[in-house]
Amino acid sequence: MNRKLELSCEVFPPKGEDFNEKTNKIINELNTLKPLGLDLVSVTYGAGGSNRDNTLKLVEVLHKENFNIMPHFTCVCSSKKYIEDYIEEIKRLGIKNILALRGDEPADIDVCYTDFKYAYELVDYLNKNTDFNIAVAGYPEKHPRAKTLKEDILNLKKKVDMGAKAIYTQLFFDNENFYRFEDACRKFDIYAPIIAGIMPVTNFKQLKKMTDMCHAIIPSRLYKNLEKYQNNANAIKEMGIEYASKQCYELINRGVEGLHFYTLNKAESTKRILENIL
Ligand code: FAD
Repeated sequence: MNRKLELSCEVFPPKGEDFNEKTNKIINELNTLKPLGLDLVSVTYGAGGSNRDNTLKLVEVLHKENFNIMPHFTCVCSSKKYIEDYIEEIKRLGIKNILALRGDEPADIDVCYTDFKYAYELVDYLNKNTDFNIAVAGYPEKHPRAKTLKEDILNLKKKVDMGAKAIYTQLFFDNENFYRFEDACRKFDIYAPIIAGIMPVTNFKQLKKMTDMCHAIIPSRLYKNLEKYQNNANAIKEMGIEYASKQCYELINRGVEGLHFYTLNKAESTKRILENIL
């Protein structure tokens, strides 16, 4: 491999009274990835601001531990003032990156007033008012609410034209869908790096929950194999590592610009995948 492959992973902020203990565990997990060239850690954000304080706390701790951090930030159900205040908090911590998202309306909110309806409006605002390196989300299998892939890619183009410098994709298991998406992006003159979203499967139930939420397609052969061994935790983990290693290996050979691992706060599978492919 001649050029630098961007390696990132995603963690979510812990909840509950044992926040510090859980955060220390996350740090220990992430430290195992540092020697393998981890470039960036992204921290998820609850749409509408749920768990916002814990996102900020985790961002602050990881930043102090010298990880390069990219907080996620959603604009749905938030006023401009609320967004401005949060952005100031992130700036105060010395953070340089942000993943600008729309988010989904939280189910427990009846009426959702929002000043920015789509992510491109947030990107435009951030680009005009801050110095953040702005990244956005992309969907190799189309966002579930977009009517066509073309419509979705035109929306992505808007985000890039408004100032986004990198695209982090939704998780996917079929590389062909990623290649189709990447080709379509280039056809529409989107040249920002596209970082492929990889989820090492570690648990069948969790996989189903995640894919129900984000509508990622699980190829039927993979699904059947995982289903067969769903009660054997070790077998599922090993299958997840093997599948994702092969997926990453092929993506690298095709020239992917980066890999973004959905770690679910556990690094072991990601570490073994990186050891297999690098
Ligand atoms: P946009 O770019 O504004 O929209 C994406 C597509 O969806 C477009 O095609 C748009 O037209 C269509 N669309 C969106 N909303 C509607 C609507 N209401 N009606 C019709 N069409 C619509 N969510 C979180 O809450 N927190 C996170 O931390 C988080 N992290 C993520 C990280 C990554 C890498 C990815 C890929 C997604 C993440 N999400 C997160 C999920 C994301 O917020 C949802 O997918 C959301 O529905 C769309 O956000 P967006 O920024 O892509 O929106």
